[in-house]
Amino acid sequence: MSKSLQAIRGMNDILPEQTPLWRYFEGTVARLLDNYGYKQIRMPIVEFTELFKRSIGEVTDIVEKEMYTFEDRNGDSLTLRPEGTAACVRAVLEHGITGGGQVQKLWYIGPMFRHERPQKGRYRQFHQIGLEVFNLDGPDIDAELITMTWRLWGELGIRDAVKLELNSLGTSESRGRYREALVEYLSAHHDKLDEDSQRRLKTNPLRVLDTKNADTQAVLVNAPKMADYLDDESRAHFEGLKARLDAVGIPYVLNPKLVRGLDYYSKTVFEWVTDKLGAQGTVCAGGRYDGLVEQMGGKPTTGVGFAMGIERLVLMLETLEQIPEEISRQVDVYLCAFGEEAELAGLALAERVRDQLPNLRLQVNAGAGSFKSQFKKADKSGALYALILGDDEMAQQVVGFKPLRGQGEQQSIAWDALAAHMATCVVQG
Ligand code: ATP
Ligand code: MG
Repeated sequence: MSKSLQAIRGMNDILPEQTPLWRYFEGTVARLLDNYGYKQIRMPIVEFTELFKRSIGEVTDIVEKEMYTFEDRNGDSLTLRPEGTAACVRAVLEHGITGGGQVQKLWYIGPMFRHERPQKGRYRQFHQIGLEVFNLDGPDIDAELITMTWRLWGELGIRDAVKLELNSLGTSESRGRYREALVEYLSAHHDKLDEDSQRRLKTNPLRVLDTKNADTQAVLVNAPKMADYLDDESRAHFEGLKARLDAVGIPYVLNPKLVRGLDYYSKTVFEWVTDKLGAQGTVCAGGRYDGLVEQMGGKPTTGVGFAMGIERLVLMLETLEQIPEEISRQVDVYLCAFGEEAELAGLALAERVRDQLPNLRLQVNAGAGSFKSQFKKADKSGALYALILGDDEMAQQVVGFKPLRGQGEQQSIAWDALAAHMATCVVQG
């Protein structure tokens, strides 16, 4: 195929054989979010570039080198969203739905775009389910977010394969004091830092903690610890969160180097990580961002949220073989009809059955074909039963009801009784 007719590197088609697992995952998360009282919001995929610069921070990997930015026909600079929080904050401000301290518990799902090096678990178009809560500032809501994801891992059967890492970044004041101490320490070891970290030391020193460079990591071993600089309020908040996680029985590890890639976090930050996916180990990440809304021009409004990477979680379900059996079967019943008269009767019968059993996954054979070829298709469809309409069945106004997976003999069922019969024996998807 010529190059121009291929998908863009790092941007994937999700093929029909993969979508059942995606839908299972997305459906499980959506149901959980509904049950915890979160409401879905849908934002555009494209926003003004300025939005991301102002919210994510100029000196971050995303803004420095990962954004898909282009000029609109009228000269505006636009960007394909690299994450969801910025747009969500923009939307709640624009529509005034967090004004006067109104609590909002929101979630969203969709594609995000970052120009990174594509590899397993890391793509240029990827998908997130994210969540943001506004105007709740206690550790109770931080705990709810984490508890909900813990439940999700349990439902998906991957709880044993993920680990919760926690840290507190404190308020901007205490972070400021910590930053000073860190800069002093790192400046004394300037020559041992990698180039990126040397640059970050000047622009955004906390990000040095986030480095993947082994030499810099060695320097960091003796660096001042954020925990020693926490203000009393942040400390109490963090203790409150830990007490709640303990109460539910959710294990965690404290990771003082966890600072997250974006500038806007404060107090709680957390990541769910796994060792099942190689280098791309973070499946869900988030934290508190109490200053962001104000920084973006709103009234002081606290916020906390997270985002999970769908590709990585789907990959985990595949790797750990946690794929429920029922999702691979997409057809319950396959109707075969032989001859034109039977085809017409079959079509009408199928519609009557669908009226009565709206959840039944009933596939009607299309493209006619011999007895043998229709049966082959019925079997290949994965259906549990075939319905058969041939000359004999037409004459008697019955339909042959044939188990395809070895659950007994073929039966003849009167047309009028078909729906009632299937309601008793076909598990509907
Ligand atoms: P990483 O450290 O892996 O680059 P991040 O800190 O940049 O992650 P966030 O911005 O916090 O990631 O996004 C939340 C989640 O979205 C990540 O934990 C991950 O599961 C997923 N994610 C982020 N970037 C990508 C990507 N390029 N491809 C696939 N999933 C991604
Ligand atoms: Mg990243």
